Amino acid sequence: MNWLTKSVLPKIKALVNKDEVKENLWIKCNSCNQMIFSKDLFENLNICTTCNYHMPLYPQDRLKFLLDENTLEVIDYLSDNQDVLNFKDLKKYSDRLKISQNLTNQRDCIYLVKGKIGGFPVVVAAFDFRFMGGSMGKSVGNAFVKGAQIAVDQKSSFITIPSSGGARMQEGIISLMQMPRTIAAIQMIEDAKLPHIVLLTNPTTGGVTASFAMLGDIHIAEPGSTIGFAGKRVIEETVKEKLPENFQKAEYLLEHGMVDIVSDRHQHREVFSNLLSITLKDFKK
Ligand SMILES: [Zn+2]
Repeated sequence: MNWLTKSVLPKIKALVNKDEVKENLWIKCNSCNQMIFSKDLFENLNICTTCNYHMPLYPQDRLKFLLDENTLEVIDYLSDNQDVLNFKDLKKYSDRLKISQNLTNQRDCIYLVKGKIGGFPVVVAAFDFRFMGGSMGKSVGNAFVKGAQIAVDQKSSFITIPSSGGARMQEGIISLMQMPRTIAAIQMIEDAKLPHIVLLTNPTTGGVTASFAMLGDIHIAEPGSTIGFAGKRVIEETVKEKLPENFQKAEYLLEHGMVDIVSDRHQHREVFSNLLSITLKDFKK
């Protein structure tokens, strides 16, 4: 026992504690359970190399791939979330904000940028689900208004990429007011006859689905994404009916006309480029 605890155990611990292990060298696919080397997964845009399951992709990595090289410019927006309810569940709202800010290195869940795709100017508002489930509070509304104003000024397409559980309940009615606020921002894009293209990613639910996310001129969705307002179980209990297996999935919504295109992440740059060449043809590159 002594040589085991004194000699062998420290060596095993040293092996296990190596930094490489902490970095999660291998990632397990949530769909097929296959272990994938993390570098291979990242190079494949976080798509499972075995079953094509689309795992979450951080907005920074997604936009680096999506936008033309050296065109990406981050747009700062006012982050003034107010804890008017002095909200506390297991943690205070103010603490949750700090944890998410440290985790994502962002002030809120929106990553707002401008740049070009296929030579066409775009403003993109992409959600980071790691930041309080991509929930929509006052700062999200601020980002949308600023993004839409810039898109109108420079005659760009406005691209929104939701990944969200809905309104941020910690902000109470203020979070609900962001629904009409984002809709008003989208209306500015429509009034300027510019395209609003939505890329729906997993999951897009609640107040986000019930506002700007369903108001695109074109809706693209990632394969297998869950897109809906209330959850499937809640609806089943309300209507007392069994819903189809793939209810609220991107493919089901495509069949029923809620989504225009379901396409693999690898194709998005080409898909956006083609759509922009059609919708922005009257504007200069
Ligand atoms: Zn898989």
